Amino acid sequence: MKSKSGTSSATPLWKDGWYQFSGHLPSPNFGPRPQGTTISLIVIHSISLPPGQFGGEEVQQLFTNQLDWEAHPYFKSIEGTQVSAHFYIRRHGELLQFVSCNDRAWHAGTSSYLGRSNCNDFSIGIELEGLEGQGFEAIQYETLESLSAALLQHFPIAHMAGHEHVAPGRKNDPGTGFDWSLVQKSLGLPKKFFPQSDGT
Ligand SMILES: [Zn+2]
Repeated sequence: MKSKSGTSSATPLWKDGWYQFSGHLPSPNFGPRPQGTTISLIVIHSISLPPGQFGGEEVQQLFTNQLDWEAHPYFKSIEGTQVSAHFYIRRHGELLQFVSCNDRAWHAGTSSYLGRSNCNDFSIGIELEGLEGQGFEAIQYETLESLSAALLQHFPIAHMAGHEHVAPGRKNDPGTGFDWSLVQKSLGLPKKFFPQSDGT
C-alpha cells in the first residue's frame, strides 16, 4: 500500500523543517521567518574554530552558545557572538543541523542578493568545515550535493551563493577554494542558479 510519501514504511525526508539524514543539534539562535517568506536561496559558508583547525567540537559549541571564550585567544575576538546556520558539513562529510529550515537562522548578517536584502529571512545557511580561500574535501561536496538535492525538492530554491556574494566587501567565505562549477555540474543546474561573479 502506498502512502503520500511513496511507500507505507518510508520515513519522510523532512519533518518540521528538519532533515532526516543529519544529526540534530538544536541551537537557540534563530527566529521566525517573516510571514509569507519564500525560501529561495542557499548561502554557502566556510568556518573552522580556531580558523584552520579541523575536527573539534568548537563550531558546534559556537552555534549552541556553549563555546568557552577563554579556551583560545581567537575566541576572545568573537566573544558573545550569537550565530547559527541551518547545516554544517564536516571534513569527513558528516552533516549536522542546528535550526529548522522553517525558521530563520543567523548566518548571513547584513546582506542582500539580487536586490533582496536580509538574506537570513529567505535563505538556508550551509557551513562547510574549512578555511576561507582553501579547498574542501570531495566527501563534503557529496554531502552538499545530496543535501542540496533534498532542499531543492522541498523548497522553491532559485539560487545558491556564497557569503562573499551576499555580503561583498564584508565577508570572503567560502572563497576561491570552493568549486562552484563542480556543484553546478553535479546538481545539473543552470549556471544562472549560481553567482554571476564566478565568471564560469
Ligand atoms: Zn559566512
